Amino acid sequence: MEPDMRINQDEITNWLDALFTAAGCPKEEAKLIASHLVDADASGHPSHGIVRVPRYMEYIKEGTVRPVCAIETLMSAGSLRLIDGQYSFGQVLGHHVVAQAKEMVASHSLALIGLRNAGHLGRIGGWAELLADAGLTSLHFVTVAGSRIVAPFGGREARISTAPIAIGVPSADGQHFILDFATSRVAEGKILVSQKTGTKLPFDAMVDSHGEDSDQPVTIYGESATSNVPNPRAGEGAIQTFGQHKGSGLGLACELLAGALTGAGTNAHERPFCNGMLSLVFKAEDFDTENTMQQEVADFIASIRTCPPRQDGQNVLIPGDPERARRAEVAANGVSLSQTICDQLKQISLSLSVPPPASLGE
Ligand code: NAD
Repeated sequence: MEPDMRINQDEITNWLDALFTAAGCPKEEAKLIASHLVDADASGHPSHGIVRVPRYMEYIKEGTVRPVCAIETLMSAGSLRLIDGQYSFGQVLGHHVVAQAKEMVASHSLALIGLRNAGHLGRIGGWAELLADAGLTSLHFVTVAGSRIVAPFGGREARISTAPIAIGVPSADGQHFILDFATSRVAEGKILVSQKTGTKLPFDAMVDSHGEDSDQPVTIYGESATSNVPNPRAGEGAIQTFGQHKGSGLGLACELLAGALTGAGTNAHERPFCNGMLSLVFKAEDFDTENTMQQEVADFIASIRTCPPRQDGQNVLIPGDPERARRAEVAANGVSLSQTICDQLKQISLSLSVPPPASLGE
């Protein structure tokens, strides 16, 4: 397989920004979408980054996602808010939730925000990071309505979404605890990356229609696996949940909290594709009457990091460390871009009359 090329982070961000602007997004919104996507790649999660651009462009064409953000606040009372994202871009709505949460915590010490009908929110940990940078602790439960692609524990047919969870706890030194994962064995984007670039998946990433483990993207994409924008519901199999009944239980909890209780809806019914998110945000210092919490967080993180490793040279990390390390490497060497994805972006560029970066050549 050909090694990926590297492209400067600002250069690819500006290119995507120009593509989304040309596709009809307001300049400021295009910038937020491009930055969030490129940051997903830069933090080691390409499954939620640049690889999504062709699918997002299809969404704009089909009218599945509005290029111009529209937000309706359905309910607002003290520390409670319910927002309808009206199928706008999730990357723009995520910033809106973060801004609202900061305001609400300042006035009420707590924010419980339900978001329904959001376009794809991308890497959920990105929202927890922005809040942690502002000194706020946050929990986010997410569902993907209209995306029944994961089998519940013990099942061999899709019933739920990849339903991610993110938890952010700020640390005074900026090395925040950011736990952020799909409750599926792998995020669907990782199967998309495997289908496009040939990366290897865990042997039990999926379950086929006979109940056997599978690592083949065709299990969920079926015949659409060869298309530019494969459909994860076209195959007969499903993605498995992580951690057997425990991960499956968390996935079901996300469907209930972020789906049933925000009005985004669960995967019990056929629905248009959207993310639902329930976010709980607070400032721990508001109830830290003895002023001990920051020190306890620092002591705890240090005790985890200094745990003797099982394998020499492979230090114990806290969630958030791998993304920070990856970002530092990307800042120095640029973002990886496979030839397949680069070619797809060039095609989109051509169709929108946006010149690709000169460094990529013809
Ligand atoms: P993953 O399996 O890569 O796990 C990532 C988490 O594990 C991070 O918190 C990371 O810091 C931590 N981690 C990784 N290696 C570690 C180590 N050695 N020690 C300690 N912690 C470690 O994540 P995933 O399930 O593949 O999800 C990828 C992304 O997909 C996430 O950002 C998620 O939010 C996103 N996602 C989004 C949607 C959506 O609809 N918007 C759906 C599913 C997933």
